[in-house]
Amino acid sequence: MTVAVIERYHDRLPVSDATPVVSLGEGSTPLIAAPRLSESLGVELFLKLESMNPTSSFKDRGMTVAVSKALEAGAEAVICASTGNTAASAATYAARGGLRAVILQPAGAVALGKLAQARAVGAVVLEVMGSFDQALGAARELAERGTHALVNSLNPHRLEGQKTLAFELVEELGELPDVVALPYGGGGNTRAVGLGFEELGAGMPRVVAGQAADRAATVATAIRIADPVHRKEADAVVARSEGKVVTLSDDEILAAWRELARHEGVFCEPSSAASVAALRHAPEIAGGRVVCVITGHGLKDPRVVEQETAPPIQVDADPDAIAEAADRAA
Ligand SMILES: *Cc1c(COP(=O)(O)O)cnc(C)c1O
Repeated sequence: MTVAVIERYHDRLPVSDATPVVSLGEGSTPLIAAPRLSESLGVELFLKLESMNPTSSFKDRGMTVAVSKALEAGAEAVICASTGNTAASAATYAARGGLRAVILQPAGAVALGKLAQARAVGAVVLEVMGSFDQALGAARELAERGTHALVNSLNPHRLEGQKTLAFELVEELGELPDVVALPYGGGGNTRAVGLGFEELGAGMPRVVAGQAADRAATVATAIRIADPVHRKEADAVVARSEGKVVTLSDDEILAAWRELARHEGVFCEPSSAASVAALRHAPEIAGGRVVCVITGHGLKDPRVVEQETAPPIQVDADPDAIAEAADRAA
């Protein structure tokens, strides 16, 4: 059986033998070489496929800890304000743990695949008439009343679970990488990765965090966060590591998204491609062994494919017509 995050790193997480473990086999994700991108970037590039977690994003690493701790504390329900991967993960782990999940979705901004996941596992999805911040404020108040456990990234157990990414990278490479590149939305993952490396005490790779130039409206919905909750700590991790926060246009992010898909066969969310885009944008910081964290799966956001690729071509069921159409499209 897969050894999941809490079992694999029991001693380094805030759990005890009394903690009821809610798990779907998260973590232990593939680390694969990226030979074509390595060549074009002039580095030895590896991709950590966090998109292969149970709900197809890295959020599961933190959610297994957050939901296990909520169950241990006697919560009956979890709550979060999100339209995205946090909602998909929270809803799924709640279902697994026998808890109710309440998802507050700010009116308007919906990512198709992610919301489908939350609905499929039976979460209550409420569309809040207000901003994200107002929805989060209401969720925090319910959490304070003790009825609902808040599993937004403010939940400290999420960071604890997410730090295990750093442990895995060092175990799998057999040494510290020179650079770790990842997307920078709210900054929780940047902060967690820094925490993981610092706990290992073997030094810190340069942390390169790719953020969208237009944080409020980027095509990369998972990093569409105007005001990052963890900015202070995430920026501090990047500074301590002698890395860099790289600001990227949507064109740069989409170009990297296409490269990952077409040159390496890795279909990810646009936000995940901010890692590769950041290396392209700041080649001075990229060197040696580099790991890009592929944070979420491409199927989460099928609308981007619709917008960025050619539609299917209609053709008669005739071999000559098919061969001709295929040649023309190539
Ligand atoms: C949550 C998420 C991010 C952003 O992570 P932060 O911790 O908010 O910086 C990036 N990519 C994907 C796919 C995500 O789900």
